[in-house]
Amino acid sequence: MSASEELQTQCVIVGGGPAGMMAGYLLARAGVQVAVLEKHADFNRDFRGDTIHPSTLELMYELGLLDEFLKQPHQEVRELRAVVNGQVVPIADFTKLPTRCKFIAFMPQWDFLNFISTHSKGFPNFQLHMQTEVVDLLIDNDRVTGVRAKTPRGELDVQADLVIGADGRHSIVHTRAGFARRDFGVPIDVLWMRISKKQGDPEQSFGFFQHGKLLVLLDRGDYWQCGFVIPKGGFDEIKARGLPQFQNDIVSFAGFLRDRVTELDDWSKIKLLTVQINRLRDWCREGLLCIGDSAHAMSPAGGVGINLAIQDAVATANLLAEKLRSGPVSVDDLRKVQARREWPTRLIQGMQVFIHRQVVTGRTSSGGNSIPFVLRLLKWFPILRQLPARFIGLGPRPEHLRSPTAR
Ligand SMILES: Cc1cc2nc3c(=O)[nH]c(=O)nc-3n(C[C@H](O)[C@H](O)[C@H](O)COP(=O)(O)OP(=O)(O)OC[C@H]3O[C@@H](n4cnc5c(N)ncnc54)[C@H](O)[C@@H]3O)c2cc1C
Repeated sequence: MSASEELQTQCVIVGGGPAGMMAGYLLARAGVQVAVLEKHADFNRDFRGDTIHPSTLELMYELGLLDEFLKQPHQEVRELRAVVNGQVVPIADFTKLPTRCKFIAFMPQWDFLNFISTHSKGFPNFQLHMQTEVVDLLIDNDRVTGVRAKTPRGELDVQADLVIGADGRHSIVHTRAGFARRDFGVPIDVLWMRISKKQGDPEQSFGFFQHGKLLVLLDRGDYWQCGFVIPKGGFDEIKARGLPQFQNDIVSFAGFLRDRVTELDDWSKIKLLTVQINRLRDWCREGLLCIGDSAHAMSPAGGVGINLAIQDAVATANLLAEKLRSGPVSVDDLRKVQARREWPTRLIQGMQVFIHRQVVTGRTSSGGNSIPFVLRLLKWFPILRQLPARFIGLGPRPEHLRSPTAR
């Protein structure tokens, strides 16, 4: 049965996160007709990372958007530090990176997505459909030919030469496509909450590690977005110990929050975010490609998932834009995107699994106030801090803009 509304385009992108919006922008810039479908009414969800990496900033430069982008409110972090069992440990030094911006820009993700969306809308061949939730794939003779979506006005069928699944970790696209997925055990979940900011608070976003626990504070202007890492499945136990005990836990990491931790006076203010790491075996089939978390869900460890999602989008546009302008692309073309992005993904996911095991679960810590050996090395040898800086700031195989502009 056909839907109440129909649309025909060259490329339909499911999901307006970092992967989907960046792929949409780059393909539209290259002259491809693009429709991005996003299920929410806006980009204002707070459970997103806030990190814009040097490689993404380099991309902004290549697109001629950097100066305007940096006018948006943001913090520039040139060195990442953590407080581990009470000791400040430098983790990564971005100042030696071979990029124009030698820092991570901390910017609420909705500002980043609004920025890309505003610029995308400047292309007449770009459409963004908000409140449009994809509920199924349209398949004809084993080829994916489009998607079916729910909108406030009813059903919408979008026919396209290519469907890009950029709908994140709980992707309906990869589920409906029947892609096989490999899951890696993740021993952590994250509790997500807000506590107000006051004058005199530390000026930067922070990570506090303590005996296998971790509190991350992201500066969101007038409040701290707090991420409290807990053992997977441990939320019920935390609740059973009661709110005052939980408030004490927070204060034991960041003493300056003592005078306002009671703002967390109801469990409804504390959201549980489940963390996953997984990867599809095949990212594509005829007419369909998955990128970003839809192809490979990332944990928050290292704060690299957004960068990786954007790098996938750049590779997609580099490899497919030219061909897509003149018609459908073959599955061999789609496989080239997976071939290009799979090993950086494997490497980063391997590192995230390592971080979970060695640092977050505190296995290498010998107890007391000691810090894990790997972190001690970073403390003793400053030059080593350039390695995590490259890994976090650029990622393996950083992508550069090669996609064309519209004819
Ligand atoms: C708690 C937590 C904190 C994190 N912090 C960081 C960090 O600080 N830095 C970092 O780099 N990474 C971080 N990550 C990882 C990062 O969030 C992801 O790797 C990144 O967001 C992936 O981008 P994406 O565009 O592929 O997917 P997403 O950002 O998940 O975007 C998917 C989009 O698709 C939309 N969507 C979903 N289903 C549908 C549908 N059926 N129809 C239409 N639209 C749909 C969603 O609404 C969403 O807008 C964190 C992850 C977690 C779990």
